[in-house]
Formats: sequence, structure tokens, C-alpha cells
Amino acid sequence: MTAKPRPIFIGSEIYRTSSYGDWHPLRVPRVSTVMDLTRAMGWLPVSQYINSPRAKPAALHIWHTSDYIAALQNAEASGNVSDAVKQRHSIGTHSNPVFPEIFRRPATAAGASLLSGELLRDGGVVYSPAGGTHHGMPDRANGFCYLNDPVLAILSLRRQGVHRIAYVDIDAHHPDGVEFAFADDPDVLMLSVHEEGRWPRTGALTDRGVGQVFNLPVPRQFNDTEMQYIMDQLILPKVIAFKPDAIVLQCGADMVEEDPLSRLSLSNNAHWAVVAALRPLSDRYLVLGGGGYNPWSVGRLWTGVWAILNGNEIPERLSAEAENVLRSLRWYGNRRGKNPPDHWFTTLRDPRNPGPIRDEIRTRVNAHQS
Ligand SMILES: [Zn+2]
Repeated sequence: MTAKPRPIFIGSEIYRTSSYGDWHPLRVPRVSTVMDLTRAMGWLPVSQYINSPRAKPAALHIWHTSDYIAALQNAEASGNVSDAVKQRHSIGTHSNPVFPEIFRRPATAAGASLLSGELLRDGGVVYSPAGGTHHGMPDRANGFCYLNDPVLAILSLRRQGVHRIAYVDIDAHHPDGVEFAFADDPDVLMLSVHEEGRWPRTGALTDRGVGQVFNLPVPRQFNDTEMQYIMDQLILPKVIAFKPDAIVLQCGADMVEEDPLSRLSLSNNAHWAVVAALRPLSDRYLVLGGGGYNPWSVGRLWTGVWAILNGNEIPERLSAEAENVLRSLRWYGNRRGKNPPDHWFTTLRDPRNPGPIRDEIRTRVNAHQS
């Protein structure tokens, strides 16, 4: 018997050195924090780390239009876009600004997702925290996402002969780009939990695709107990019944209490429970990042994801080296960045946030059980 291969972490230094600009929510470091924290904890040996390749334009054409990819490359080369390009491809807007790595950075996350399909052909676990750009559209940027790496990951798995894929998305925002790609594909199960009434305002409870789309919009103050209920009553039963050849989890970190872009109240324990529960349900497991705009919440949550995937115990208090990684983070332009609570520096695990399971949650879960 051969030992199971260890999970693979795909990262890149490009996320440390690039930013969407001083006022954009994605001005904060995220993936680099996870790389630094996992290394500081001794959890990321070189044998488990792959430096992300950058996707070539031709590889992106499996879903994105060549005109759009050329527009991103031109924007990177020239540093600006014409009004016509802005109109046509939604780049050079407040949400989707032109920045120096406007092609290279998303093409690196896309390269990781394309590579993941190959790495997972015969089974395994891959983690790409830079992935999860679930709003990208074939010919336009959307919601901070220039490309759609989850779609590319699913298409890459298909190319390797991996057919039935369960896509689970626990980002605060609905994955409109992924649903656009696969709503009519009976071999892609689509499950999303997201904040109701929030941009992009898609992802209605009543979307059914061809019977394999399950959206669960949730109200403000969404708590850990409610997430556990949805996991037990909806996510796990649907995934098990689907018998997927692979699972892709978009593990956005913006449903947590301290995130500035949502009004939900999960602790990171809720995300970790989903990561752990899905793992045994398929031989192939790809975990992607996603949203998450509080640099401490994202770094701690996504570092914990890697610990869960490896079966590492999360200590109550971090090592001094890991604490230094968190103490060196800065979050300008947000009041929460002024006086961060001590546990953002010294722990990975949030205090749990249990609560009542509200009637609208039960009713909406029931709507998917007929
Ligand atoms: Zn989000």
C-alpha cells in the first residue's frame, strides 16, 4: 500500500507585491499572509508547495473570449483603457481597476486552477487560496474578478476525464459567473450559501438550472449554528447523493463577523467545519479562496483551512513567529484596522458564534428538499 499523497498548496509571490490600489478592498495582503503563517507554523514544507504557473492566453480561451484576454494584456502594457474597452469589458472601473498586474495576477490564479485539474486527475487535495474569483464572465470583469478560475478549474478537471463535479460556494456573494457557466450542465452540482439582497443580487432560492442548482440566500447576522444546520441538512446530503468525481469548494472568507463587505456573523469555525466535512466525500478535492477583506480574518481563516486539510492541530496560541506575521499587517482606511483585538494576533481560531436557527433558514432549506 502506498501512502496517500500530501495536499498541495499552490501560491505565488505576485500576491504579496501587487495591489488593486490604495482605496480598493483588495489593497490588503491575503495569500502572502497565508504563505507566511503556514510557514511560520511549520506547516508548509517545500515538498507540498508549488509556485503557481501563469496561464497562457490560449489556455484561457477555453472559457474567456480572445478579445477580452487581449484587452487585459493591453491594459497591463499601456496602464489604461479606452472608454470603448471600459464599456465592453468592464475594466478601468472602480470595482475592476486597471492596476500594474491586471493580466498577470489573475492569470496566475487561473494558472493554479488549470494546473489543479491536472494534479487531481488520479486523486488528491489541492489548495489555492488565490483562487475563487467566482464573478468573472467570459468577456468582462465583474466584482473584482477579471477571470473566472473556478470555471477554469472545472473545465480542466473535465479535460482530465473527471466528469461529475460538485461545486460548493460559501462566499458571502453569489457565484454568478460559475452559475452562468454551468447552470445547464447536469454534471456540475451547484450549491451556494450567500447573503440575501447583496450584490450581485443573483442566486435566488428558486433558481433550479436543470435541477442541480441549489442557492441558499441567508439573512444578516447569519450564525455558526445556522451554517451547521445548512451543512447537515442541505450541503452534505446533496453532495453525497450526487456522487461527485471531484469537489471544488470556494471558501471565501467574507461571511465572517469582522468582514467589512457583508453583514453576516460566522466565526471561522463554520468555514473549517465545511472544509473538513467535504473532504471524505470525494477522492479529488480542490479548495479555493474567494472574498475576504479584513486582512487578519482572511489570513487566520485560510491558514486554518490548510491545517484542516493536513490534519494539523490548531494551537490555542500561535508561535511568536506566527504572531509576528499577524502583528506586521496593516489595514489603512478602515476603523477596524485601528485597534485590532489581541486575538487577531495571537490565535487562528475565532470564538464560536452560536445562535438560534431562524425560521426563514429552515423554510429555505426545506424548499430544496422536495
Ligand atoms: Zn464575496
